[in-house]
Amino acid sequence: MARVCLSVCFALSASLRFASQAVGNSRWGRRPIWFILTRKMYSTFTHLKRPCLARILALVLLFSNPINGLQLRAADPASPPTRNYWGDTNRFLDQQAVVLLGAAQELLEQSPPALPEPAQRRTALLLLDAVLHDADAPKRAPVQEFFQRRMAQAVLEIEQTRVERGAIIWKLYDHAFVVRTRTVTLAFDLTRAHSAGVAEFAMPDALAARFASPCDALFISHLHGDHADDWVAQQFISQGKPVVVPAELWSDMPFHDKLRHLSANSNQTHALPVQEGRQTLDVVVFPGHQGTAIVNHVFWVRTPEGLSFCHLGDQSNTEDFVWIDCLADHGPLDILFPNCWTPDPLRVIRGAKPALVIPGHENELGHSIDHREPYWLTYERFAGAAAPCVVMTWGEAFRYRIDPKTDESR
Ligand SMILES: [Zn+2]
Repeated sequence: MARVCLSVCFALSASLRFASQAVGNSRWGRRPIWFILTRKMYSTFTHLKRPCLARILALVLLFSNPINGLQLRAADPASPPTRNYWGDTNRFLDQQAVVLLGAAQELLEQSPPALPEPAQRRTALLLLDAVLHDADAPKRAPVQEFFQRRMAQAVLEIEQTRVERGAIIWKLYDHAFVVRTRTVTLAFDLTRAHSAGVAEFAMPDALAARFASPCDALFISHLHGDHADDWVAQQFISQGKPVVVPAELWSDMPFHDKLRHLSANSNQTHALPVQEGRQTLDVVVFPGHQGTAIVNHVFWVRTPEGLSFCHLGDQSNTEDFVWIDCLADHGPLDILFPNCWTPDPLRVIRGAKPALVIPGHENELGHSIDHREPYWLTYERFAGAAAPCVVMTWGEAFRYRIDPKTDESR
């Protein structure tokens, strides 16, 4: 009978090996079938006269084969974690972007925009400079994900945040800002970021549309694609919200007559109704220029509660200092949003006398590396400014005079 047992056991063992290999190769996938089949084999032996020997054989088979299996599985060719990237520069840079953006994200979460600036914020922004000054940065999946995740977070905050006092300012891409006060929400130079030149980097339309809904008006400084996005403008128009632009922008588009064209005159204050006339903005359009030829409207907007915001667009004509030097004559200015590369920013700040400066336009990924304008250069350009500066990145929010006890920007 023992011979019979042995024969049966070995036959079963062979068939079990075959069956288990046929079922699957996952690390733990073979255990159940071993268990089931061995139980069947064991129940067969329990009818025999010498079940002890059968049990021993069954146990040996049960434990010896899985151990062999485990040893084989350990040698399976499943790829171990890569510890070098030799010969694959692209993959190396992708992984480096993952690591550096992750570190930057962590630092930014620990120290949101504030005055005085937390020391580690600058480190975080310099990390971003390093990643974003790779010529192919907008093509890299980690950069696309970083940007879009931050935009998604920003729009969620905009949708959910009420302001009772002061203002909250969200910085978007690249020189876009959303400003919310108790009464109104303003958008400046809002785009989907197609100017980066990579469709996968830009905000998906569904996400971008969510920015239009909570805003009351859109101000567009000039025609360049990193400031003017006709799709975004049409979202505002379709919701009956004013889109204020220079007259020559989109002059051949069917929606041109639905845009608002306010004359660029330093001495004229326009009343701009928003929210179907329930609120009114005071708007001055200064006749700015990018270079000497491109019209660039510099908007100075005062909200119903008397807070004022001035957005420079791509102001870069030194002859315009004629009126820039006198900006403060138009009344107290709360926040100035200069393009970080505007000529002589310290002179602009002396002319506008804002309570706070928030530069923009850093790291436009559609620009060549030399004009991608890193944060480190913003810090150098704005050092010694006659007003406090808050340097921000995509999706961040700054709380301006929200809480008089903790806000030092006053
Ligand atoms: Zn620009």
